[in-house]
Parts: sequence; C-alpha cells; structure tokens
Amino acid sequence: MLNFYPGPSKIYPEVRNYLMDAYDEGILGAPHRGEQFVQLSRTVVGSLKRRLNIPQDYSIFFTSSATECWEILTQSLTKKKSFHIYNGSFGEKWYEYAKKLRPNAEGIRFDINEAMPVEELDISVDTELICFTQNETSNGTQVTASTILNLHNRFRDTLTAVDATSSMAGLNLKHIKADIWFASVQKCFGLPPGLGILVCSPRAIFRAKQMNERSHYNSLVSLYEKMLNYQTVHTPNTLNIYLLKRMLEDRPFIKQLDIDLTDRANELYEFFGQFTDFKLLIENEEVRSKTVLVLEANERLVEDIKKRALHHNIRLGNGYGPWQRNTFRVANFPAIANEEYEELKRFFLHYYA
Ligand SMILES: *Cc1c(COP(=O)(O)O)cnc(C)c1O
Repeated sequence: MLNFYPGPSKIYPEVRNYLMDAYDEGILGAPHRGEQFVQLSRTVVGSLKRRLNIPQDYSIFFTSSATECWEILTQSLTKKKSFHIYNGSFGEKWYEYAKKLRPNAEGIRFDINEAMPVEELDISVDTELICFTQNETSNGTQVTASTILNLHNRFRDTLTAVDATSSMAGLNLKHIKADIWFASVQKCFGLPPGLGILVCSPRAIFRAKQMNERSHYNSLVSLYEKMLNYQTVHTPNTLNIYLLKRMLEDRPFIKQLDIDLTDRANELYEFFGQFTDFKLLIENEEVRSKTVLVLEANERLVEDIKKRALHHNIRLGNGYGPWQRNTFRVANFPAIANEEYEELKRFFLHYYA
C-alpha cells in the first residue's frame, strides 16, 4: 500500500528493524528513572538539536502529542491570554482549547490565499503568548520564514509559539526566530503516533519558572525540572523515543531534507496544476505548503478519486474540517520515496489527464 496520508503517515521502512532491535536491546522494559533510559533520552535530545538545527540553549521535552502541547503552553505560559493567528482547522482548534482555559484569549482568522498579516495585527501589551501554525495541515498553507522573521521583529517582547506538527523534521525551520516549537512524530518524522516533541527557548523557560504554574502533571516547570536529568514526569513512550533515536541517526541532516522536499514539492505542484477536473486549493504560490498538498474538486469526483486510488493500493488523504468533502490531500513527507510519487503520477495521468 502506498500511503500519502498526511498523518498518521507512511512509516520509514527501517522502523521494522528498529522495532526488533528495541526488543533485543531490552530498552522497552527498562525503568524510566534508570541509567539506560537516561542515556537514550540524552542521546535523542542531542541528535534532535544537531539533526534539526535546534539551538544548543533550547530545551526539548517529550510529550504525548501536539494537542497536549497546546494545553501545556496555555496552562504554563499564560495567566490571562494568548493571541492566535490562524487560517485553518488546527490553528482554530488550538485557539478553541486556549479559550476554554483562558476565556480572554483572542484570535484573528486570515485568508488561505494570503500571507499571515503581520503588519495589521493589533495585539495588546498584556498578551503573553502569540500563537500560529507554521504548516496548516488542514488546507495546505504555510507561514514562510520571512513572515516569521517579520513577526519576530515586530513583537520582540512577547513569547511566540509555533505549531510545526507537519513540518518539523521536514523543513529547516529557523528555531531561533520563535520561542516555542512543537510537533508530533506521525508526520514528517515518519514514525508511529504517540509522541510529541516540545522545543523551548531559554526565554520561554525563564517565563515558565517565573509563573511557576504547578497545577498539572504536565506543567512546563515540572517537565523542565525532570528534563534536567533527561527524565520525564510520567512513564514515557520509550519505544517511540528509541525509534526516534535510530531514525535521526540514519537520516540526512535537515538542510538536505529541506532541499529535497522543496524540489519535490515544486514538481508535485507543477504536476497537479495541469489537470482540469480538479485544481490546487491554494492559488497563491507563496503560501503553499511544502509538505501537504490539497486538491479541490466536486464532492463526487473527490470520492471517486479516493476510491479508485485505494483500489490501486494508493491511500490519499481525506479533506479536513471545512474542506473535508471537496478536497483530498497528498503528503510530501521525507519517509515517502520518489518512486512512490512516480507511481502516484502514473495513476493520475492514466485516469484523469
Ligand atoms: C496533526 C496535527 C496536530 C495534532 O497532532 P496530534 O498528534 O494528534 O496531537 C496539531 N497541529 C497540526 C498542525 C497537525 O498537523
């Protein structure tokens, strides 16, 4: 089965062997306060920093998901309110969760064909956290590095948090330009679900210590204190942390992955741009996601394409949120091989050209 679903997505084939190694190495039943786990955790944190270009002085935490990260950030870094800039379902969900905990949270929606409107933002001085989604998996848009830089320059004194769930480990993100980044491993990491990665700047940690919010098992200060010894608050997903270690060791550095993914994204956009029965949802090339492509057609055709593809052992992504029925999605993730896209192209040329 070829799997182009944007999460859970195709797992690296090497994972099969890593799983057996994990069993054989005896890490899976090892206590999470013991030397073997601490050693693994320390190695993974080092590899993440090296392989994904995360600054040395940033902290890394293991959580269970990106959704959990939304909650941790609201709990532990806002007393009053965050400000959310979004154009799709994931950014909006984050905002909705924040509002449940902090009813004063504010948000602004922008158009899917426009860049995040940094110049027009009206963010009050008592805002504690600015939140946005770098790669909106629901509609296939991205916030570019230059837009993130503009935001950083305009709101230097406010912490910024970036949901990079479907781009971290695929794109060479400029982590230095924001305080908090997070992702789950079932997207660009090419691993099974059940592990989140939360990355925090020294400034974010400083603020967490200042707030000293300790009402939750996953309060950020608690995560921080345990991570000083490369440990977690709760019993962690040791298997996935092990898989992450092996995967990072075997993969190219992020700079190369970014170049390859960008080239492939350009080819795929050119390819999918040539059809008449369906079209790219996002018209503005500047804001098109490099890792998730979204194609729009009438509902019947979308159904037909997905069914026929499945019949040929090709899994396409369903549409998401408001775009659920009139779009389908194609992941451009590192674990998917070039030959698999060639097969996908042959399928579309055969039936829809
Ligand atoms: C998939 C996704 C999430 C949710 O990830 P979970 O691991 O299910 O919590 C959040 N944000 C974005 C942008 C995503 O793509």
